[in-house]
Amino acid sequence: MSRSCKILRQPYQAHPRPGAGFTLAQPITASYLRCPPKQSIFKFKRQEATVHENYSETGTVVKIMSRLPVSKRVFPSSSSLDSGQDTGPAQKRIRKDPESVKPQAAATVIGGRRPPVAATRAPISKPVRTVGSATVAGAPSRGVLRQTVASAATRGSNVKLSVAPTGTKPGGGGVVKRNKWDLKGKVSDMEDKLRNYQTKVKSANQENDALRGSVAQSHTKVMEMERELETQRKQISEYEKELKVLSGVRAEVERVSSERNSLQEELSQLEGKYKVMETLRASQETELQTLTMKLSVKESTLAQVQANLQDAKQEICSLKETVSGQEDELHAGEMERRRLHNTIQELKGNIRVFCRVRPLVDGGASKHIQLPLSDNKTVTLAKTEESHTGKTADTQKNYNFSFDRVFGPQATQQEVFEEISLLVQSALDGYNVCCFAYGQTGSGKTYTMEGSEFDDTRGVIPRAVQQIFKASEKLGAQGWEFTFTASFVEIYNETLRDLLYTGKANKRPEHEIRKSINNQISITNLTYEKVTNEDQVLGLIALANQNRSTAQTAQNDRSSRSHSVFQLDIEGANAGRDVKCKSTLCLVDLAGSERMVKSQSQGERFKEMTAINGSLSNLGIVIAALANKESYIPYRNSKLTYLLQGCLGGNSKT
Ligand code: ADP
Ligand code: MG
Repeated sequence: MSRSCKILRQPYQAHPRPGAGFTLAQPITASYLRCPPKQSIFKFKRQEATVHENYSETGTVVKIMSRLPVSKRVFPSSSSLDSGQDTGPAQKRIRKDPESVKPQAAATVIGGRRPPVAATRAPISKPVRTVGSATVAGAPSRGVLRQTVASAATRGSNVKLSVAPTGTKPGGGGVVKRNKWDLKGKVSDMEDKLRNYQTKVKSANQENDALRGSVAQSHTKVMEMERELETQRKQISEYEKELKVLSGVRAEVERVSSERNSLQEELSQLEGKYKVMETLRASQETELQTLTMKLSVKESTLAQVQANLQDAKQEICSLKETVSGQEDELHAGEMERRRLHNTIQELKGNIRVFCRVRPLVDGGASKHIQLPLSDNKTVTLAKTEESHTGKTADTQKNYNFSFDRVFGPQATQQEVFEEISLLVQSALDGYNVCCFAYGQTGSGKTYTMEGSEFDDTRGVIPRAVQQIFKASEKLGAQGWEFTFTASFVEIYNETLRDLLYTGKANKRPEHEIRKSINNQISITNLTYEKVTNEDQVLGLIALANQNRSTAQTAQNDRSSRSHSVFQLDIEGANAGRDVKCKSTLCLVDLAGSERMVKSQSQGERFKEMTAINGSLSNLGIVIAALANKESYIPYRNSKLTYLLQGCLGGNSKT
């Protein structure tokens, strides 16, 4: 920042008193004297001096004055002035120390367009100052008054400018013109002037000394400043180093700030998430409260239920006791039932014979078989006999037969089985049961025993099996466990044949009837199939029929000349009551009972006939012996009776 002001040069005025104050006295030279007063000396150009005010670093003002006009003059006694040349307009700059720039009373600083009155203050300043003032006197040369610039620059001094008019007479006010003849006066003037100059030179020398001192000081100052500069340079280099470090720090700061930004972003994201979680938490808390309430309700319900459960448990305990008591009763009842059932069967007869009359092929009944409506235990066979003499008419002869039960042609399979089912129950109760179908070929033995596959026409064997499995399930509730083993054997010509054989025909094994130590009858190499349900048994019956029909094609209608024996071994155990039972249910489809004329039977047929007759008649003998409770029962006489001996004697039902 700079500021300038103008120093207005004053029009020359004659000094009232030469040498008084800080006055630049102009020497009066010859040329000067020649010049007309109007034109020469006082032709004083208005000049301008510029004072620059500079603000130093410390804030103080440095004023620089420039372009001060310097008069062209000749100083006879001074070397500088003796140069004989005009110095010309010298530019002097007076540099002041910031602290010392103070206008002093001795200097006349005229700024702006101040009126000339100010210049008259010049006498205030003292003409000679040892230190702190500068006086430059300018002498006019060849009648031209040059402006004189006084400048001084010393530390702590003032700047004083003073312009004094030339031609002033010492002690007089204004220029005194001497006459041409007044040489003495002129000489005295010149002497005065000389003295004056000498004084001034002296003072200039003093000032010069002062300036030298000032220069030395300045030099010292310069040195100091250089040192200071060096120090500051060092400091600057340190600062630069520090700056480098700081630039690293700045990079670090930038990195940290970017990191901070990313962290802030993350933070904001997390805050968002936190808000979401907060919402979720709130909803879950609500849910939790609801659930807690529900739980408390459930807990109270549970307590109620537990109390109920306790009651129920007690009730169950008492009921269990009751049940076990009832089970005992039931078991006792079951045993009682068995006993009574057996008693009934025994009363009915361990050996019972039922008669079934099959319908004719056209559906009607045979004329010679009469079934009384009132009685279902008798049957009458009517026979017309021719008169031997031929004189009397043919006689009608009736033969009455009584049975434990007679089934007419209309009797269904179900009706027939109802009678048999009592015996089947006996088999489950632990009694051996044997059921034979006896009759001529085509009389319905196989139909009665096996029937057909339809439900209504199923025969005794499938029905018996069904009953046995159902009954065993019921008894299972009372603690009974049963195992069933089925076998199907054919006796043809006193030879045993396994009807459940599934191997190759040419590898059929031979079978023997064996009797164990505990009188258990078994057949060697026979298929004994464990069965657990009705369908398995039906499958075995089908397999047996298949085996029979295969044999049948080889030998015509063999089935009618062989016995087929279905045996179901039943083993039951009630572990809880330590009761066991074992029995066999035998269902036998006997060979045709028709008698063949011996003379007509030859070869294989004779052999067959003999075997059938033998086994059937032996069966009759055995049953008769059993019925008569004879001591000897000829079981061994035929394979059939030998095989079935366990199911025929004792408390067995036949
Ligand atoms: P068997 O085995 O005694 O030689 P079947 O049982 O083979 O005689 O019977 C011969 C035929 O008579 C078969 O076609 C059978 O369907 C029929 N039959 C037997 N008994 C009856 C009956 N009670 N009702 C209807 N058809 C019967
Ligand atoms: Mg048959």
